[in-house]
Amino acid sequence: MKNKTKKVALVIGGSRGIGRAIALRLARSGFDIWLTYKSNHEAARNVKAEIEKSGSACELIAFDVSSYEETEAALGKRAEDFSPDVMVYNSGISRDNLLMWMTKNEWDTVLSTNLDGFFNVTRTILFSMLKAKKGRIIVISSASGQIGQAGQVNYSASKAGLIGAARALAREVGKKNIFVNVVAPGFIETDMTEGLRKEQVLALIPLNRVGRPEDVASVVDFLCTEEDMYIHGQVIGINGGLAI
Ligand code: NAP
Repeated sequence: MKNKTKKVALVIGGSRGIGRAIALRLARSGFDIWLTYKSNHEAARNVKAEIEKSGSACELIAFDVSSYEETEAALGKRAEDFSPDVMVYNSGISRDNLLMWMTKNEWDTVLSTNLDGFFNVTRTILFSMLKAKKGRIIVISSASGQIGQAGQVNYSASKAGLIGAARALAREVGKKNIFVNVVAPGFIETDMTEGLRKEQVLALIPLNRVGRPEDVASVVDFLCTEEDMYIHGQVIGINGGLAI
């Protein structure tokens, strides 16, 4: 993976769902992929095989983004040796419950994975992007972070927090040729939404269909590859009109 003529995309949480689609799409656009995940080795190995079939290289890196120490150990040295051209912060979890029933653990787990994880990863790789004077950072938030969702006070808070963090970071690093943007999906069919009732959500979506991981991946790909680029510090909704 040290072939410096090839661009590298670091996809955080690339083993399944939206992250998997993003990794495959970026590989198709010619990036080699550093693909991270937590523990689903089999899913990650399958994505790696698909990426290699498309002609790009893929390195698998397993760690828990909620731990600063694990994140540093997994990415610190790599980023010191080579600055990834792109970082997509996609890992995330939900633990839904009405606030009146929500446990401290449900709150903490979601915030530490979704929001602390962003700090842990970005803090670890940002210095190398600053030195390289180039980079594109895409943060996967959610429509829940834009408009709020009952039963998701923890998740909505984490995703709104990501929007604030990305906007502030965009102001810090824009002059260094590092683009920072947020993508906010609505209802996308993945493992995360498996238990939810589609019929109920469909009534709220003007396009009358739920989203596919590829719908998100195409926009991320654009933000990572477009050369005539003046989009910075923005939140792009991909939600079929769920949040207008
Ligand atoms: P998913 O299918 O559950 O995949 C989650 C990914 O994140 C997996 O690669 C998982 O790795 C990784 N991950 C989870 N916790 C981690 C941790 N502590 N450390 C490292 N990696 C971790 O989820 P998805 O539906 O594709 O969602 C992807 C992102 O989009 C999330 O941030 C989610 O909040 C956001 N989003 C999803 C929807 C939707 O409708 N699906 C809507 C809006 C926003 P393992 O495979 O090892 O578990």
